[in-house]
Amino acid sequence: MSYIDEVMERVVAKNPGEAEFHQAVKEVLDSLRLVVEANEEEYRKNGLLERLVEPERVISFRVPWVDDQGRVQVNRGFRVQFNSAIGPYKGGLRFHPSVNQGIIKFLGFEQCFKNSLTGLPIGGGKGGADFDPKGKSDREVMAFCQSFMTELNKYIGADTDVPAGDIGVGAREIGFLFGQYKRIRGVYEGVLTGKGLTYGGSLARTEATGYGLIYLLDEMLKQNGKELAGKTVVVSGSGNVAIYATQKATQLGAKVVALSDSNGWIYDANGINLDVVREIKEVRRGRIKEYADAVPSSEYHEGKGIWSVKCDIALPCATQNELNLDDVKTLVANGCFAVAEGANMPTTREATEYLLENKIMFAPGKAANAGGVATSALEMTQNSMRLSWTFEEVDKKLQEIMVGIFSKMADAAKRYGVEGNYVAGANIAGFEKVVMAMNAQGI
Ligand code: GLU
Repeated sequence: MSYIDEVMERVVAKNPGEAEFHQAVKEVLDSLRLVVEANEEEYRKNGLLERLVEPERVISFRVPWVDDQGRVQVNRGFRVQFNSAIGPYKGGLRFHPSVNQGIIKFLGFEQCFKNSLTGLPIGGGKGGADFDPKGKSDREVMAFCQSFMTELNKYIGADTDVPAGDIGVGAREIGFLFGQYKRIRGVYEGVLTGKGLTYGGSLARTEATGYGLIYLLDEMLKQNGKELAGKTVVVSGSGNVAIYATQKATQLGAKVVALSDSNGWIYDANGINLDVVREIKEVRRGRIKEYADAVPSSEYHEGKGIWSVKCDIALPCATQNELNLDDVKTLVANGCFAVAEGANMPTTREATEYLLENKIMFAPGKAANAGGVATSALEMTQNSMRLSWTFEEVDKKLQEIMVGIFSKMADAAKRYGVEGNYVAGANIAGFEKVVMAMNAQGI
């Protein structure tokens, strides 16, 4: 049996019930076959893949908090410190009822290669809790965040592990978490990113994941003889990534015609009016359905049908495994020629294979959505220097980083004879740097 298959079998056996983690490991290892085969003896000898798939540390903890009825609720919190070969653990916190250890491990594993691709000195980690901020009062969210940080603070720090936001964790939650860290530890340091601008946050961090997605997409299109201007785009989701991807795509001359949330999706043939979306989502924390009430010429549909909308480019920006084989068949039949992942692993394995076989340009999330964490690393830099850069400075660095990521993944794919396969290219390029750093530091 090949080394990769042996390791994969062990991952499944040793991590029962962690389907998303198995999926992420399999996707990465499969696309590393050529690299691993070329170095098999050395990698086997020093247990490289076994070390790579085993997190350095998994922390799981109780999060008790008091709800508005005075009842005590208990959630489960996690922090997975996956790999610190390149730098301090770095990665978001996800608060969502679906969160479990397998999901945090899949996200942490992906984060290692994503962070490596940015070229910045950040290792990989991820955390979160099975807490649902939806429908909770501000006081309940604060109570939860304070309890979560009362435990988490023991394991993090500006030079050890720097969490940030992810699904369910935005500016409000980061503020509550940061306040509690400072209260307990008594130090003012860049321990979290995505902070507010009044207390150490970076300009352009809010926009970074969505903008970065479009910068990478734009570069991929250009390098393949296409352009973004004039194209019709479907974006799933309506959170931070989707909103700023829509804004940047629109600025660059594309037309975004659909957005969604977990209940349904909207279609606006005139192009999404982002002011309306931001008012609903950012100000009122409402549902995307309300868009159709505000813009009568648009349509609202219940359920998951967003991928039936005809488009040139599809940007899944909601959550894992939201784009399946039937969806991509429909997209391709309708003329879609490029897909870039704003979310983490939104495309199933079968769907990814179908896109690659059909020569659809496909930018995987660990490259396409790396602008968020890259700008987090820029926030860390500014915190260490105790200064703040202008929006334009950060945005320019972000653009350069995204163009750099594209060229790293395109070059790696070419070097291994799979030109245009950016899934393999991103995994190989991300892996190479992590391996060099791990080898240099010994066992
Ligand atoms: N949650 C984001 C991601 O998936 C950002 C992480 C960060 O800024 O540390 O990459």
